[in-house]
Amino acid sequence: MTRYIFITGGVSSSLGKGIASASLGALLQARGYTVKLRKLDPYLNIDPGTMNPYQHGEVFVTEDGMETDLDLGHYERFTDVNCLSTDYITTGQVYSNVLAKERKGGYLGATVQVIPHITDEIKNFITSNTDDVDFILCEIGGTVGDIEGLPYLESIRQIRNDLGRKATCFVHLTLMPYIPTASELKTKPTQHSVKEMLSLGIQPDLLLCRSDRPIPDGALQKISLFCNIERNNVIAALDAKDIYEVPLHYHQEGFDHQVCEFFNLTPPEPDLSPWLKNQAAANASSKKEINIGIVGKYVALPDAYKSVVESIQHAALHNNAKAHIVWIDSENDQHLKTELKDLDAIIVPGGFGFRGIDGKLQAIRYARENNIPFLGICFGMQLAVIEAARNLLNLKDASSTEFGPCQSPVVGIMTEWLSKDMTEKRSDESDLGGTMRLGAYPCTLDVTSKSYEAYGTKHITERHRHRYEVNMSYKNDLEKVGLKFVGLSPDATLPEIVEHQNHPWFVAAQFHPEFKSRPFLPHPLFNGLLKAALAK
Ligand code: GLN
Repeated sequence: MTRYIFITGGVSSSLGKGIASASLGALLQARGYTVKLRKLDPYLNIDPGTMNPYQHGEVFVTEDGMETDLDLGHYERFTDVNCLSTDYITTGQVYSNVLAKERKGGYLGATVQVIPHITDEIKNFITSNTDDVDFILCEIGGTVGDIEGLPYLESIRQIRNDLGRKATCFVHLTLMPYIPTASELKTKPTQHSVKEMLSLGIQPDLLLCRSDRPIPDGALQKISLFCNIERNNVIAALDAKDIYEVPLHYHQEGFDHQVCEFFNLTPPEPDLSPWLKNQAAANASSKKEINIGIVGKYVALPDAYKSVVESIQHAALHNNAKAHIVWIDSENDQHLKTELKDLDAIIVPGGFGFRGIDGKLQAIRYARENNIPFLGICFGMQLAVIEAARNLLNLKDASSTEFGPCQSPVVGIMTEWLSKDMTEKRSDESDLGGTMRLGAYPCTLDVTSKSYEAYGTKHITERHRHRYEVNMSYKNDLEKVGLKFVGLSPDATLPEIVEHQNHPWFVAAQFHPEFKSRPFLPHPLFNGLLKAALAK
């Protein structure tokens, strides 16, 4: 039987519902259960693909090519279960499904309404494609009290009514703010948040109370009394210095035990050994410190590069190193040169548009000429090819058609490619949303390459998210000046990885390796980069 755990948030946004959900998922797995994590986002965009990173942070891409919220990245990293497009929905999708059905006459003359039509669509999303896992953990985006979230809360209230208490559990995450003038942690915002839930017909079963300091038992008792929740189900969720410690903290506080008890389950104690090992490695003192520069346009919001940062940390830990991330604004050319000086490795991550490309090209050239280990990701790879064409092939007008028409389009729009058994077609006029080359595609590696050495296998699959592609007609010339095309699509028509020869580690990939890195299994390309940086 599949059980549903709904995770809502109150008082404030940014309390870490994603990490909380992912951590509970990991703890249930450690007790031998199968889990699936899902997110329901209350905004009207169909997906975050067209949103500015400052609005939304990173766009995470699933194996099957859906552009999603970055929380799905946490789910995958904590549970190692790949999310699919059936694990993410927005209000935009809900409404467009309902409206498409209405146009087809699917509601047989009924007045189409939020209840039951929108709520049925949401309920259907939550309870479909469950793959018979033991637990579906559903995170509701936003904060209780938002108008936008109401249909979701109404839907989960109805699911409780449909399936009963034995199959559904409501976990509510709130904040306990510390008021310095009173020297006290305050319970009132939590009480109000639970009251808000109650007004919508939902009595939380468990509360997770976020706090920056230990919560006195008296405060937890008070919450228990006022919120009508058993004391043991009011769980302290203190700030952790490392997100991968959260499952361990939660376990200590009895969270997974209480969830199992709620469902009348008596599983064995969880096997937390990988998490404990990770914690011990993170706390080990004899670490070599290295500086890794990330050169991008959105460096003021590190969440825009969430998976890249996590991938660096996974690889650093694996190599017994402490990586300091140096954020370098590609639009600020003036300070760039000095900022690049003390780096042990440089990453140019994915990106879009003309702004800031000069800074990125400078960083790429600097890495190439000074033997600094380099990883180019997607846009970073396309720019690495442009840099080589301009400075090694002397094609001064080499560019990407993403920036407008040009004489030497070494990067051009992809108009046709094979996806599964279907040919995908695009033109300049195609919609912007959801029309890129998205999701996992296979790639074959040259066995003499550094990438092959890093992966230890010839056939890989990696996730994509791009509209433009390196132009294969420049391959021969670029290879003559040392930029080898070492990874290609199986039909050898699409370049996937390029490497500069005679460089300790200059690898640039058309795909996004960061989506597949895991805390206990760093991604080969990040691992390779870190190893090269440490050997410098
Ligand atoms: N802007 C480039 C393209 O669309 C690269 C995209 C990316 O880095 N994700 O092809």
